[in-house]
Amino acid sequence: MSDNKFEDIPFSSPVLPNQLELTSKLCFECKPGISCFNACCKQADITLAPYDIIRLKKRLGLTSTEFLKKHTVPFEMDSHGMPGIKMRTTDVNPVCLFMDEEKGCTVYTDRPTSCRYYPIALMSSRKADEYHDEQHYALVKEPHCRGHEQPRELTVADYRKEQGVEEFDELNREYYRIILKKKSAGPSVGRPTPTSFQLFFLACYDIDRFKQFLNSPSFLTVYDISDEEFQRINKDDVECLKFAYRLLKQVLFGEESIPLKDGAYEKRMQERKEILELRRQAEIELAKQNDPIDKYVQD
Ligand code: SF4
Ligand code: SF4
Repeated sequence: MSDNKFEDIPFSSPVLPNQLELTSKLCFECKPGISCFNACCKQADITLAPYDIIRLKKRLGLTSTEFLKKHTVPFEMDSHGMPGIKMRTTDVNPVCLFMDEEKGCTVYTDRPTSCRYYPIALMSSRKADEYHDEQHYALVKEPHCRGHEQPRELTVADYRKEQGVEEFDELNREYYRIILKKKSAGPSVGRPTPTSFQLFFLACYDIDRFKQFLNSPSFLTVYDISDEEFQRINKDDVECLKFAYRLLKQVLFGEESIPLKDGAYEKRMQERKEILELRRQAEIELAKQNDPIDKYVQD
């Protein structure tokens, strides 16, 4: 079972190169007793999206930080090192740790988006000159999966509904948009700073630590949020995730939706200016000590 979001489809990929739309039909059924039971979960390559993590950590009674440490591995989504998260598998074969030989998926009602979509691959795209992204689908046909041989025909829309994908897509949509926007911005925007990647990681994957950050003085002295909104964000992971997307879009792309406290921006700029000035002076001092001319000019 593998997902193919945002990737070009390689020639040898099990993803069939025909694009599906919501009304397209597929012939597929996965049901108890099928001969390939669990085969897909023994070849798991599952990229997790933010709402997947919220559902799974809640299911397992873990904090997001504990979940990330125990059940995931990080990877880089692009050449700039944009952080992504994959589900951890067994070391030798990529068997999903949530798979039970007898019972199948032990987190079934909270399984990730990719597991729900399978055997459909979700692909998001955005043209450089257009604001909105588009979602397309493609069929994944892997030799071990016998579901394609079942005589059940249904549309992609029906399959999404059956698998409970809509809620996941709704709450992950902004995440895909942020990735696409960053990707389609191209080299003109340049390589994001390590700090912005840290914020991206925190906001998208480690929601409990993100909440701690929201409660820190460095955040509260800059952003102007009403008590009511702040309580809602603190109480509810989904509300917090929606806020996280807003903050990311503000910080990464300048799409302002969270008001700043009066004078906070100027104060911050002043502090930054002072730090830059200190750094500049330190560099001048250092350069004086290591002046390359020294080795030619003797006192
Ligand atoms: S989460 Fe469940 S459905 Fe997804 S790969 Fe693991 S066992 Fe299979
Ligand atoms: S039919 Fe496909 S999706 Fe269902 S258990 Fe078999 S391999 Fe997995």
